[in-house]
Amino acid sequence: MPDVRTPLISGNWKMNLDHFEALRNLQKLAWLLPKDIYQRSDVSIHPPFTDIRTLQTSIEADRMDILLGAQHCHHEVTGAFTGEVSPVFLQKLDVKLVICGHSERRDIFGETDEMVNAKVKAILKHNMTPIMCVGESLAEREAGETEAKVLGQVVNGLQGVKKAEVGSMVIAYEPIWAIGTGKTATADDAQQVCASIRAAVTASFGADAGASVRIQYGGSVKPGTTEELMAQPDIDGALVGGASLDPDDFSQIVKIAAG
Ligand code: PEP
Repeated sequence: MPDVRTPLISGNWKMNLDHFEALRNLQKLAWLLPKDIYQRSDVSIHPPFTDIRTLQTSIEADRMDILLGAQHCHHEVTGAFTGEVSPVFLQKLDVKLVICGHSERRDIFGETDEMVNAKVKAILKHNMTPIMCVGESLAEREAGETEAKVLGQVVNGLQGVKKAEVGSMVIAYEPIWAIGTGKTATADDAQQVCASIRAAVTASFGADAGASVRIQYGGSVKPGTTEELMAQPDIDGALVGGASLDPDDFSQIVKIAAG
């Protein structure tokens, strides 16, 4: 398997933008991105659930190449899970990528590695791509526990997933202390952790999976920090929160990352 991975730049809109605002954002983003950018990169947006149907219609009607994503889903297909959303419902709306295990879901909503693992399997089962987030807190980093924490999340999150499926996935390394804080890991530090993630995937799932799994960096990515991060050999894209809400900033990040 050639060691060539198409960069993936993903915008996590979190709990921002109603469906009218989201539509305006999407259309401005599509207008700002040159058509040929999609030959060099994949671009996904992850709006709130209530925006997805509106954006799907616009993406389809205007034949946009932007990929529709979600921020979360439940691992069961149907049942008594009030407030949850089935992976089948997302698949029906042409959602291509689903974030799972974001640190906000883990910390605020109590998602465990086991729950993340169940979501990864459910997303894959319904032919969508998981973006599985991993990352350490500031206290863990200061205690020298970054690799133990992150690699533990990787191994637990991928438990029982087939080799070929792991190779098709995306893992987002998001140091928790860098999310929404304006602090970014240095490119060297981010590269080191991403290289360790790739080595762990290779050790558990083989060289093909290690070579093809895409690893994003996330944590206060801005246009000014993108080039250095993307120049690292084991960083294959970015998961962008705050800066993805502004189509000007996000399109700049995509253009820089696409090279
Ligand atoms: C995120 O929400 O995944 C994220 C990385 O946010 P921000 O870019 O705002 O740090």
